[in-house]
Amino acid sequence: MPSSKIKPSSAVQNQLNRHHLSAKKKYGQNFLIRNDILKRIVDVAEITKKDAVIEIGPGLGALTRYLCEASGFVLAYEIDERLRPLLEENLKEFANYQIIWDDVLKRDLAKDIELYIPKGTSVYVVANLPYYITTPILFKFLEEAPQILRYVMMMQYEVAQRICGVPQTKDYNALSVAIAYRATASNVFCVPKTAFVPMPQVDSAVVRLDVDSIPKIKAVDEDFFFRLIRLCFRQRRKTLWNNLSFSFPKDLLKQCFFELNLPLSVRAEELNVYELVQLADWFTNSGK
Ligand code: SAM
Repeated sequence: MPSSKIKPSSAVQNQLNRHHLSAKKKYGQNFLIRNDILKRIVDVAEITKKDAVIEIGPGLGALTRYLCEASGFVLAYEIDERLRPLLEENLKEFANYQIIWDDVLKRDLAKDIELYIPKGTSVYVVANLPYYITTPILFKFLEEAPQILRYVMMMQYEVAQRICGVPQTKDYNALSVAIAYRATASNVFCVPKTAFVPMPQVDSAVVRLDVDSIPKIKAVDEDFFFRLIRLCFRQRRKTLWNNLSFSFPKDLLKQCFFELNLPLSVRAEELNVYELVQLADWFTNSGK
């Protein structure tokens, strides 16, 4: 990477100014300006030139440059078209990337991967996520792109805690379960607010998720399982019974709790991923 004597924060600001741009809060635009952290994120991902990487929100391309260097191909989704000239300028020495100028949440991920990434290539996600949509992005990728092998992502520190959450703790929720269903999570390192321009209001952390090569468990109907866990954790303070009674007839629930030996007072946070899959399978097998 080229080194520069200019302070990185002013370099980013100067670039934005030159293009008469300012960071958009509504898109979660906090640009990472520390090369040591960018390099560390890429190192944690353990990418090779044979691999393809999906990046969500390349922004000005700070991370994308490292990813283009380390991998064979980068597929990136960026919602903010204003950044196009800047991003193209910053990536001009690379040819191994494709930017999709669109909202990642609106994309058909399976189609995009099929179109841009040759079959048989190992695919990783590496991103400094837009924090306002971290959870929907993760659910979308876990549900729609099972071929992704590893995720290395910067996110809000509290969300990182939840991703690594285990049953019976305050951090455990539907997202922890969705992650535990497919992967093993590790909270890799924390990142200070001062590493970004503009500075965010929250602390950040980098999380690595290694998708299980052999699934530890498989729900009969995976789409239903992902929907059900969101219902189970709908309101944290409520019991599982209360949360599910919004969506299922009481008679069916009674039969389910009885057959699965679940106390009426149980809360979703007391159930591990295996028990939640068992619950989903019960409804699936009973015709819901
Ligand atoms: N990767 C850059 C970096 O590390 O400096 C920028 C990261 S910034 C935290 C998040 C980026 O995600 C911004 O560039 C923002 O425009 C983009 N973004 C926000 N919402 C998005 C969406 N729905 N789809 C695709 N990109 C989005």
